[in-house]
Parts: sequence; C-alpha cells; structure tokens
Amino acid sequence: MAVPRGMTGAAVLAAVIAPMLACAVDVTGQGLPRVHVIATGGTIAGRATGGQLTGAQIVEAVPGLADVAAIEVEEFSRVGSSAMTPDHWLRLARRVNGLFAADPGLAGIVVTHGTDTMEETGYFLHLTVEDSRPVVMVGSMRNSSAVSADGPANLLSAMRVATHPGAIGVGTLVVLNDEIHSARDVRKRDSNRVDTFGSEWGPLGVVDSDTIVFRHGVRTRHTTTSAVRLSDSVTELPFVPIVADFTGNEGAVLDDWVEAGARGVAVQAFGGGRGSPGMRRAVADAAEAGVRVVLASRVPEGRVLSGGASPSQGVVTAGDLPPHKARILLMLALTEDRTGAELQRLFDTH
Ligand code: ASP
Repeated sequence: MAVPRGMTGAAVLAAVIAPMLACAVDVTGQGLPRVHVIATGGTIAGRATGGQLTGAQIVEAVPGLADVAAIEVEEFSRVGSSAMTPDHWLRLARRVNGLFAADPGLAGIVVTHGTDTMEETGYFLHLTVEDSRPVVMVGSMRNSSAVSADGPANLLSAMRVATHPGAIGVGTLVVLNDEIHSARDVRKRDSNRVDTFGSEWGPLGVVDSDTIVFRHGVRTRHTTTSAVRLSDSVTELPFVPIVADFTGNEGAVLDDWVEAGARGVAVQAFGGGRGSPGMRRAVADAAEAGVRVVLASRVPEGRVLSGGASPSQGVVTAGDLPPHKARILLMLALTEDRTGAELQRLFDTH
C-alpha cells in the first residue's frame, strides 16, 4: 500500500532514532493498523490550569482509540501554532518522510496541531511528504478542560481516517468536526466555533459514527506527484514574506522587503489579484530586481485570473490559493532555479 519514493539519508537516520523518540502508549492493539502520532501543541493540548498535555496524555484521554489502532506517540514540540516556523515545517516533513521510509508497515501518521496555522503546516506536508500513506492533521477549538471539549472526538475521527483506505493517495488531510478536508483547500473560517474549518470546494468526506464516507478526490499535485521536492541539501527555506495591499498604498512595505533581501513575495491583493497603483508599481520594481512575486487575493473564494500576471517577468498568479499558502508553494519553488513560466505552471497544478 505504501509508495515511498526511496530512502534518503535523513530517512536512514530517522530509522535509527525513531525507536528512541517514540513511546508506545498502547501495546494491546495486536492485529490493528499501526499509527504514529506526532504531537506539536495547540489548544488540543491546552488545559484550563495552564501548561499543556503531552501527546501521550492526549491519546490516553480518548476512549475507544485503542480499538482503532496500535498507537505510538512522539513529542515534536509543545507550542501554540502561531509559534510555528518554516524550520518546524522542514523538520516535521523530514520526520514524516523518515518514519514512512523506515517503516513500511506503518498505516499512517496523525499530527496534533493548533488550528491557527494548521492549514500552513498541512499544505507544506501535502507538498513535501513522499509517500501515499495518510497524514492526518487534527486539533480542537476547545481546550481539554472545557465542557464539551472537541479534542477527543476529533482525535478519534482522525485516527479512524488515518486507518481508512480512502485516505491513501489523497495527500495531507485535516479532520475536525466530523469532516475530512484536503490540506490544500481547507481554511480556518471562524475564530471560535468548532465547525471552523471549511473548503471552497467542500469536504472530501465525512466521519460518521458507523463509517467513513469519501466523496471527492484531490485533482492537484501532491505528495508522490508533487513537483516541489525537499532535497537533502535544503537546510533553510528562502525568505518569502506576505505583503497586504490596501487603499492608498504607496508600495513602501514591498519596497522594504525587497531591500531586506526577500527572495520572493506573496502579495495579498484585492479581488481577482487587482492591486492599488502603488502596489502595482512596487511589484514591477520587485520583479525588475529579480524578486519573484505571486499575486493572491484577500477574497476567500474564487481564483486570481491570469490577466494581471507576467510570468516572463517573474510575476505569477496563485489561482485559488490564499496568500499564506501561495507563500509556501513559492518558498518551495525557490529552492530550485525555475523560469517564470515554470513557476506559473507550479501554481496552476499544485
Ligand atoms: N491556540 C491555538 C493554536 O495553537 C488555537 C487552536 O489550537 O485552536 O493555534
């Protein structure tokens, strides 16, 4: 069932250190699929008294989990997801790739994560994991001490999805509130509600009490078909800030980032990728200086049309990717030399 692209040096290293990092929480699950949980922090680990639960404590608190999978848990970090960095993404992607490469019998991986930037980390994994087995991101909107905490139910759902055949080959998934979303399309849409996550094109499926139903596939490139590989030589991602346009903008913020050495910029433009005169001037100057620019929209739904772009000058459009995801694809794209036309093709297909 696994389709690894081949074991890298990092994967071999991971094979050696994995048994030291992982602690088996459930040893009774003989015959059950094995799932590795990577805990990173977030509200799902939060509690009213302060401090955070360990990954093992989160798992142990969920009745029924041991009937679904044999679970091993690893502490990756214990941070709110607003403290996640591109360095965390790199290390997490390498860890996931290492685990899969070292363990062909592993059914899937569940990552517990804060909801604020879950879609960024999820999309990064969606593009860089080199295996078709499920990677499922999960979190919660209410902390573990809250009345009706949603973390336990979400984790149980995530575990069921991670062991379901429908989750193979569709890239990284986000599971909360009984819905299964593609990490590419999912957006946090409400700051407080448990049904916060949604996708413009709808969920891929749902988690019902009796079964899991997948209804849609993922047509964009990801994981084993992704064109943005994380080669072993990448130790740091290129610096790509997001610059928001606004009425009356003179473009000074974009000028400053170019001056500060940005390799690329994701512009949060108006609807359809349209920009203020000042932003348009700053984009043209940035492109002239060799900085790649991707135009994304602040409008939550609908594509940026190709009209405003000039790929030959290094200004491309993000399609329906929001600025914070366009930034991630641009960061990965800039780890290799690519023409503007090649860059645009990446945005059209990922
Ligand atoms: N504290 C949060 C975070 O780490 C919010 C959450 O997890 O729901 O993103």
